[in-house]
Order: sequence, then structure tokens, then C-alpha cells
Amino acid sequence: MKKNYLLTPGPTPLPPQVCEALARPIIHHRTPQFQAILKEALEGLKYVFQTSSDVFILSSSGTGAMEAAVANLLSSGDTAITVEGGKFGERWTELCQAYGVHAEVIKVEWGKAVRVEEIKAKLKATKARVVFTTLCETSTGVTSDIKSIAEVVKNSEAVLVVDAISGLGVIDLKTDEWAVDVVVSGSQKGLMLPPGLGFISISQKAWKLIDAARSPRYYFDLRAAKKAWAQADTPFTTPVSLVVALNAALKMLKQEGLENVFTRCGKMAESVRAAAGALGLKLYADASCASDAITAINVPSGLDGEKLVKTMRDIYGVTIAGGQSELKGRVFRIASMGYINEFDITLALSCLEKVLYQMGYKFELGAGVKAAQEVFLVL
Ligand SMILES: *Cc1c(COP(=O)(O)O)cnc(C)c1O
Repeated sequence: MKKNYLLTPGPTPLPPQVCEALARPIIHHRTPQFQAILKEALEGLKYVFQTSSDVFILSSSGTGAMEAAVANLLSSGDTAITVEGGKFGERWTELCQAYGVHAEVIKVEWGKAVRVEEIKAKLKATKARVVFTTLCETSTGVTSDIKSIAEVVKNSEAVLVVDAISGLGVIDLKTDEWAVDVVVSGSQKGLMLPPGLGFISISQKAWKLIDAARSPRYYFDLRAAKKAWAQADTPFTTPVSLVVALNAALKMLKQEGLENVFTRCGKMAESVRAAAGALGLKLYADASCASDAITAINVPSGLDGEKLVKTMRDIYGVTIAGGQSELKGRVFRIASMGYINEFDITLALSCLEKVLYQMGYKFELGAGVKAAQEVFLVL
């Protein structure tokens, strides 16, 4: 008998409460019943986004919310700063270029976090209207110091946009307190939902840019969204079932409490790092910026990294992530986000050990699981 376990950085496993909500009969989206559900969702999202500003729900994956940010904030010929320390940072640059926006790229060595001084210098040297960053660079397992970045950007003309697709509801991001203007996210990571919803929060400072921008936009026009949402309505048909399920997920996050969610995810990531160390494996990300949402571990030399991930998945049913782009075959990644707890992590680690052992890697069987258990035993 094979059982399946999902420890990837999206999609993440669905809690039974979410599955139940998804299975309910559909209702019409332009009814008082759905308006009440929508209002509840928007309030709940403000809690998770840690903002009192408007949060919008988009019918797209996370990248749709990223595109909405670029299309709504900028015009062709504008300049924006993008931080590229991995595959998802690169997406900001590609999106800017698609809209004719000149991207001033800050290249960051993969596995490292951007230095705030570099953003400060780039802001001084350019007329950038927007700074695009990533909370957790999922491809490398690096968390950026958004608080310090916001400190710099808030004293400039520019608007700060954070891709928190993998970080929201996993790592602390104090949107209002730190003065982050725009936060984008998606449904299938920390929020424990199937893929299909994008989210975006907008500050007052960002609205000024949105109202002045001249990029073509239609489906993702946030001005239209704002108008509709003021009447608890949506410009187009909303994915009703996903929004119903969103409320179930938000209720769970509220019940646990955001702070406790961050602690749980942090502990799980810490245990994975401890396990890697005990197994003699090296972490890809620099220790100073290792993410609590996802841990990238170097494939030991001489071992086939893709085969490792495939064997865990296809023979044993434990799905972790391999490496993306230039890291293909060089790292494997274990997520610590969403509906995952300590026993999911120890289970994944025991499977990892089994496959490493079968592939001939030398270590003491059980050492990784033991190290993880020891982390979890500390309250
Ligand atoms: C997953 C992810 C994305 C892409 O989101 P999609 O939902 O696949 O469009 C973008 N940025 C980060 C940091 C991610 O983890």
C-alpha cells in the first residue's frame, strides 16, 4: 500500500476542513450569501497580511498577482528595481520587461540575501518608481530582510513590492508596521488551499501610482476591482468554492494564531537543517538567511539528485522538491509551510534517509530523524 505525502513549496497538503468546504454545493456569486462569505474572506486576509489596507482576491496563481502589481503600478518607459537572487526574483525582471519597464537589476549570489545598502545605492542612482523583492526566494531557500529594506524604501519616492507567495502565513511579514506597500501571494502554499487564487494588498502610497500608471490592463485592473469590492462585489465571476475554502483555512490560521504558525514553521525548518547537519549534508542557503519556509539541501557529490527525489516520490509516496533551473539535480528542497507538522517532517526525513542509504550514501541510519526529534523536544 502506498500513501502520499506532500512536502513541496506549493501545492501544500489540504486540511480536511478545506476539503470539506471545497465539496459543498456551489452558490451563485452575486448573492447576499456569497457577499457575506467574501467580506469574511477579505477581513481574514487582512489578518494574515497584517494590514488594514485593501486586499484583493484574483482568479489566478501567484504569478497573476505579480503581473497585476507590475501592470497596475508602472507605465512603459518607467524604471523599476528588481532583486534577483533566484528564479522568482528573475520573474520580476521578466514581468517588467514584458510591460516595457526598464529593470535595474540587483544581482544577488544565489543562496545569499540582498544587502540593504545595494538597494539604497540603486535608489539613489536611478529614478525607480518601484522596488520588487521576494520575502522567501523559494528556489534557493533564502529569506530577505524585508523590514530593513522597507525602512530604506519608505523614505524614498519608490513603492516597495514584496513577493510573499511562499512566505505569507509562514514567515513574519508586518505589512503595515514595516511600511510594505504591496504584498502579493497565492493560495497553494502557506494558505493551505489548492492553486487558483492570487492575493494582493495595496497601500495608499501605491494607489497613487496605480491611478497614474498607463500600462494596458483589463482583467487585472485593480481600479475596477476596488470599485466592485466597495460593494462587496467582484468585477468578474469569482472562484466561489475556493473562496469558501479560503474562509475555512483562514479560520484555522486565526485559531492557531499567526505567531504560533510562524513558530511551528520555524521549528520545522530548524529541524530539517539539524537533520541535514547530522547526515553530513550541506545546506544551500547561507546560514545567515536560511528560510523558515523551505530548506534547500545540496545533493552529496556522486549522487543523482533527480533520482533521489523521484525514488522518494514514485516508490515511497513522499514528494519533496528538486532544484529549479541551474540548481536542477544539485539540490533538493523540503517545505515547512502550510498544513504540515513535526511528524510530517520526521516522516519525510526517515524516507530521505532510506533512499540515501539505498543509494549508497554513508551515514548513521536514524541520525537525521534523531536530530530533528531533538529540535522538536525543545519547547
Ligand atoms: C510559487 C512561487 C511563485 C509562483 O507562483 P505561482 O502560483 O506558481 O504562479 C512566485 N514566487 C515565489 C516566491 C513562489 O514561491
